Amino acid sequence: MPEKKKVIIIGCGVAGISAAIELIQAGFDVEIFESKNFPGGRVYSVFDGIANEEHDNGQHLLSGAYFHFFEILKVLGTDNLVKRQQNLRVVFSYSNGEKDILDGSPFKGKIGLLAGLLKLKKISLKSKYHITTFFSKLLFNKLEYDDKTVRELLIMNHQTGEAIQRFWEPLALATLNSSIDSAPAELLIEVLNKAFFADKEASTLIFPNVGLSSLLAPFTHWFSEKGGKIHFGQSIKKLMIKDDKVEAIETKSGDIYYADYFISTVQPNSLLKIISNSETDTAKFNYLKNFDFSTIISIYLWLDRELKGIDFSAMIGTKTQWLFNRREILNEFSNTNKNFKGHIALTISSGDDLSKEDSEKLADFCFDEVKNCFPELKGAKILHKKVIKDKFATVRLTQKNLKFRPKAETHLKNFFLAGDWIDTNLPATIEGAALSGRNAIRDIKSYFP
Ligand SMILES: Cc1cc2nc3c(=O)[nH]c(=O)nc-3n(C[C@H](O)[C@H](O)[C@H](O)COP(=O)(O)OP(=O)(O)OC[C@H]3O[C@@H](n4cnc5c(N)ncnc54)[C@H](O)[C@@H]3O)c2cc1C
Repeated sequence: MPEKKKVIIIGCGVAGISAAIELIQAGFDVEIFESKNFPGGRVYSVFDGIANEEHDNGQHLLSGAYFHFFEILKVLGTDNLVKRQQNLRVVFSYSNGEKDILDGSPFKGKIGLLAGLLKLKKISLKSKYHITTFFSKLLFNKLEYDDKTVRELLIMNHQTGEAIQRFWEPLALATLNSSIDSAPAELLIEVLNKAFFADKEASTLIFPNVGLSSLLAPFTHWFSEKGGKIHFGQSIKKLMIKDDKVEAIETKSGDIYYADYFISTVQPNSLLKIISNSETDTAKFNYLKNFDFSTIISIYLWLDRELKGIDFSAMIGTKTQWLFNRREILNEFSNTNKNFKGHIALTISSGDDLSKEDSEKLADFCFDEVKNCFPELKGAKILHKKVIKDKFATVRLTQKNLKFRPKAETHLKNFFLAGDWIDTNLPATIEGAALSGRNAIRDIKSYFP
């Protein structure tokens, strides 16, 4: 039998896990190096000693279009640890306490979206007409979006200020984590096509109903059982390169590991550090300098009162963009916390400006906004809070830097790239990361002698 080819993967986030599963299943010998002490990368939860329960590094919202990510969860046996909507349903909560509901039922896919749009009360007929026209142009491939930002595309297609603020902006911020003034229109188009014009189930939203770590933690056992080797707490310092090929990697502690192929799944700033330590033509990786990051602020509040009858909501007319009611989303076993009746998570995407604010004040400010949107919480008290400002939440993909997004292949013959920032046509999301891992393997297989 020919000897198995060996692949080293740097990083054990979603992209690394996706690549590893694919490689193991294709019969490769796989070794992973991960600087943290657990799998999952930017998808994880931590235990809060005061609240006596887990919270995530930031609430993650999944969609029915996350086919590659759900394939991973199926392999790990955790695809049932989520709550799936039957039909698309999004509540919009306004700062004056009014509510509007996009309710696609009883339909799915594009018909559900249309039905939901027509039922919206706080969007005028004129705006609905233009939104519907936009979607019909999308369906018939009639939108011209090359080199446009999301805002430019919306304006060109007669979207009203009201439609932009109340419909498009929440959608774009949640999916692209970039302001509509710089986010590339083509990414939004790809998301809409995948969600509404592909598979009918794709248009619904999905929430993990356990702490995020539970979704991916079984990977360590699965991978080891299949013969894979994983080194947690081991950062890669440099690539050892000879004749345009990577021969080995060196860890921060100075250990050297050889393989036939190497895949980096780290963010561009981490890759740049590894490259700058490596003896190679670093100029070939200069394009990495075009990527900076967009902040996501996550605020977890434990309250003396439970918010009832709502699982999540977009907030309109406020700095806070989304509210997630953890008591409704998480499964019943997580909801045994008697000391803190209410537990909500607030999300602000593309929150670079607000991240400079004092965390305590920011949490109080956002909670005031929540009370305006949900008058039933007037008089409620925060008993405990946690503010997480992740300045490296995702790369900021803009109309300007989109062209620098690399494919999996590099000029180094056996060195491939994966990660949510790689060119998959998708935004920097969990699904983009899962797909990028797959794409890297496809490229390795095509090189396989
Ligand atoms: C707060 C927050 C909220 C989010 N919300 C959503 C959401 O609602 N929906 C959604 O789809 N996506 C969301 N995302 C984005 C999503 O989490 C990421 O797109 C995805 O997890 C990226 O996976 P990845 O494998 O590409 O990268 P990572 O998860 O970053 O994996 C890279 C891994 O490499 C490791 N590493 C780095 N340097 C080295 C080194 N030198 N040596 C060894 N290991 C190294 C890192 O520790 C990390 O584990 C959110 C992200 C954040 C932070």
